[in-house]
Amino acid sequence: MSISIGETMGHGLRANLPGTREEDCFSWNCDSLDAIKTELAAQEYLQSLIRRRRFDVDALVEVPLGVEPLAWLYEHMRQICVELGFYLTSLHSECTEQGCPVMRASETTYYCAGHGRPRPCSAMGYSIHTLDYAVRQLSSAASFPDRRQVAESSVKHFQSMVRRLYRVFAHAYFHHREVFERQESTTCLYARFVRLARRYELTPESLIIIPELPTTIGDPGFHV
Ligand SMILES: [Zn+2]
Ligand SMILES: [Zn+2]
Repeated sequence: MSISIGETMGHGLRANLPGTREEDCFSWNCDSLDAIKTELAAQEYLQSLIRRRRFDVDALVEVPLGVEPLAWLYEHMRQICVELGFYLTSLHSECTEQGCPVMRASETTYYCAGHGRPRPCSAMGYSIHTLDYAVRQLSSAASFPDRRQVAESSVKHFQSMVRRLYRVFAHAYFHHREVFERQESTTCLYARFVRLARRYELTPESLIIIPELPTTIGDPGFHV
C-alpha cells in the first residue's frame, strides 16, 4: 500500500518517503514549535522556517517561545555548518590549491587550527578543516552536553568557531566575489551568520570586514 504526502502529513509523520518527487519534498508545515513533539523540535522548526522564509533574516534569528536563546543559537550554528558544506562545494570550483595556497581574507594570512599544531593550509584546506572543527565542537558532549540548555560557559566555543568561520566568508568575498554573491543571493547565509554574530556578540565589530551588503544580494522578494 502506498502512502501519499497528504497522508503522511495527516499522520503527523514528517518524512520524505522513497519515491517522493523533489518538488514535494519537505512539504509538511511546522507552523509552531509546540506541534513538533520530538527531541529535535527546535532543529526541525528552524529548518522549516528557513525553507519558507530564508531571506527574512530577522524572523530566522528571532528566538521562538519555549526555546532558550543560546539553544536557538546552537541550532543556527549547526544549520550554518550544514549549509556551509554546500557552500564550500560551490567555492571549490574556483578556490584551488594553486590559486589560493594560503588562507587570506584581505591582507592577513591565517594559520589553520585544524591540526595538532597550527600551520598554513590552502584557503580551501583551511575552510574544510575549520568546518570540521566547528562540527566536532558542536557534537562534543564536553562542550555542549545538552543542546536544549546551553550554558553561558559554552559561549566561548561559539566565539572561537565564529571567528574562524568568518574568514571563510571573507575569503570568498575578497577573492571569489562572484561565488560569494551568487551564494548570498540564493541562500542569504552570510547575512544570517553575521546577524547572529552581532546579536550574540560573538566577534568584535573590528573583525567584521565585509562591507554592508548591497541591496541586490538577498532580495527579499526572491524565495527558494
Ligand atoms: Zn580561494
Ligand atoms: Zn588545515
